Amino acid sequence: MADRDDVGIKYTKAECDYGPGDWPHECSTCAHFRTFSGGKCQIVTGKILGSDLCKFHVFKTGQEDLEDEDSADLERPRTMYEIMRDPKISSKKKEEINQSYSSWLQKSQKRSLEEKRTEIRATRRRREEE
Ligand code: SF4
Repeated sequence: MADRDDVGIKYTKAECDYGPGDWPHECSTCAHFRTFSGGKCQIVTGKILGSDLCKFHVFKTGQEDLEDEDSADLERPRTMYEIMRDPKISSKKKEEINQSYSSWLQKSQKRSLEEKRTEIRATRRRREEE
Protein backbone atom coordinates (compact mmCIF):
# COMPACT_ATOMS: atom_id res chain seq x y z
CA MET A 1 0.00 0.00 0.00
CA ALA A 2 1.27 3.50 -0.82
CA ASP A 3 2.45 5.67 2.06
CA ARG A 4 -0.12 8.35 2.83
CA ASP A 5 2.47 11.07 2.07
CA ASP A 6 2.85 9.63 -1.40
CA VAL A 7 -0.79 10.21 -2.18
CA GLY A 8 -0.87 13.71 -0.76
CA ILE A 9 -2.91 13.04 2.38
CA LYS A 10 -1.74 14.94 5.42
CA TYR A 11 -1.66 13.80 9.03
CA THR A 12 -3.92 15.45 11.59
CA LYS A 13 -2.32 17.20 14.54
CA ALA A 14 -3.70 14.55 16.91
CA GLU A 15 -2.09 11.77 14.87
CA CYS A 16 1.39 13.25 15.15
CA ASP A 17 1.46 14.52 18.75
CA TYR A 18 1.46 18.16 17.68
CA GLY A 19 2.09 20.61 20.51
CA PRO A 20 4.48 23.20 21.91
CA GLY A 21 8.08 22.83 20.74
CA ASP A 22 11.31 23.13 22.68
CA TRP A 23 13.99 25.12 20.84
CA PRO A 24 15.67 24.05 18.61
CA HIS A 25 13.17 21.20 18.23
CA GLU A 26 10.29 23.17 16.74
CA CYS A 27 8.52 23.64 13.40
CA SER A 28 10.61 26.70 12.44
CA THR A 29 13.68 24.45 12.09
CA CYS A 30 11.81 21.60 10.37
CA ALA A 31 12.24 20.68 6.71
CA HIS A 32 8.45 20.35 6.33
CA PHE A 33 7.64 23.85 7.58
CA ARG A 34 6.48 26.55 5.15
CA THR A 35 5.91 30.18 6.10
CA PHE A 36 3.34 30.50 3.31
CA SER A 37 -0.14 31.61 4.53
CA GLY A 38 1.11 32.30 8.03
CA GLY A 39 2.57 28.84 8.67
CA LYS A 40 1.87 25.51 6.97
CA CYS A 41 3.33 22.04 7.02
CA GLN A 42 3.83 19.77 4.03
CA ILE A 43 2.62 16.71 5.94
CA VAL A 44 0.39 17.97 8.78
CA THR A 45 -2.98 19.69 8.37
CA GLY A 46 -4.00 23.14 9.58
CA LYS A 47 -2.21 26.26 10.66
CA ILE A 48 1.26 25.51 12.00
CA LEU A 49 3.14 27.70 14.47
CA GLY A 50 6.90 28.00 14.14
CA SER A 51 7.24 27.45 17.90
CA ASP A 52 5.28 24.16 17.89
CA LEU A 53 6.48 20.61 17.19
CA CYS A 54 5.32 17.14 16.17
CA LYS A 55 6.87 13.66 16.10
CA PHE A 56 7.84 13.98 12.43
CA HIS A 57 10.25 16.87 13.01
CA VAL A 58 13.40 16.69 10.89
CA PHE A 59 15.95 19.49 10.73
CA LYS A 60 15.96 21.40 7.46
CA THR A 61 19.07 21.64 5.30
CA GLY A 62 21.58 23.98 6.87
CA GLN A 63 20.17 23.54 10.38
CA GLU A 64 21.24 19.95 11.08
CA ASP A 65 23.96 21.28 13.39
CA LEU A 66 21.24 22.28 15.84
CA GLU A 67 20.95 18.57 16.60
CA ASP A 68 24.28 18.79 18.46
CA GLU A 69 23.86 19.34 22.17
CA ASP A 70 26.25 22.32 22.17
CA SER A 71 24.29 24.08 19.46
CA ALA A 72 21.03 23.39 21.23
CA ASP A 73 22.23 25.66 24.02
CA LEU A 74 22.29 28.59 21.58
CA GLU A 75 19.69 31.25 22.09
CA ARG A 76 16.55 31.04 20.02
CA PRO A 77 16.65 33.63 17.17
CA ARG A 78 14.45 36.60 17.94
CA THR A 79 11.19 37.01 16.05
CA MET A 80 10.42 40.08 13.93
CA TYR A 81 7.85 41.05 16.58
CA GLU A 82 10.57 41.14 19.25
CA ILE A 83 13.04 43.00 17.02
CA MET A 84 10.50 45.67 16.06
CA ARG A 85 9.74 46.33 19.73
CA ASP A 86 13.37 46.55 20.85
CA PRO A 87 13.97 50.17 22.00
CA LYS A 88 17.73 49.72 21.49
CA ILE A 89 17.31 49.39 17.72
CA SER A 90 16.93 52.68 15.81
CA SER A 91 13.91 53.36 13.55
CA LYS A 92 16.22 53.51 10.53
CA LYS A 93 17.69 50.11 11.34
CA LYS A 94 14.21 48.66 11.93
CA GLU A 95 13.12 49.96 8.52
CA GLU A 96 16.14 48.25 6.88
CA ILE A 97 15.44 44.99 8.73
CA ASN A 98 11.78 45.21 7.76
CA GLN A 99 12.57 45.71 4.06
CA SER A 100 15.04 42.87 4.06
CA TYR A 101 12.50 40.63 5.84
CA SER A 102 9.72 41.53 3.37
CA SER A 103 11.99 40.70 0.46
CA TRP A 104 12.96 37.35 2.05
CA LEU A 105 9.29 36.58 2.79
CA GLN A 106 8.25 37.25 -0.82
CA LYS A 107 10.98 34.94 -2.13
CA SER A 108 10.09 32.31 0.45
CA GLN A 109 6.37 32.44 -0.45
CA LYS A 110 7.19 32.19 -4.15
CA ARG A 111 9.41 29.17 -3.46
CA SER A 112 6.69 27.55 -1.32
CA LEU A 113 4.15 28.07 -4.08
CA GLU A 114 6.47 26.51 -6.66
CA GLU A 115 7.14 23.57 -4.32
CA LYS A 116 3.40 23.12 -3.79
CA ARG A 117 2.80 23.07 -7.56
CA THR A 118 5.61 20.55 -8.02
CA GLU A 119 4.11 18.43 -5.23
CA ILE A 120 0.65 18.53 -6.85
CA ARG A 121 2.09 17.60 -10.26
CA ALA A 122 4.06 14.70 -8.71
CA THR A 123 0.97 13.45 -6.86
CA ARG A 124 -1.09 13.60 -10.07
CA ARG A 125 1.63 11.68 -11.95
CA ARG A 126 1.74 9.01 -9.23
CA ARG A 127 -2.03 8.63 -9.29
CA GLU A 128 -2.04 8.32 -13.07
CA GLU A 129 0.63 5.64 -12.88
CA GLU A 130 -1.35 3.58 -10.34
S1 SF4 B 1 7.56 19.53 13.26
FE1 SF4 B 1 5.83 18.40 12.41
S2 SF4 B 1 4.19 19.90 12.18
FE2 SF4 B 1 6.09 21.01 12.46
S3 SF4 B 1 6.75 21.44 10.38
FE3 SF4 B 1 7.77 19.55 11.05
S4 SF4 B 1 6.50 17.89 10.35
FE4 SF4 B 1 5.29 19.77 10.23
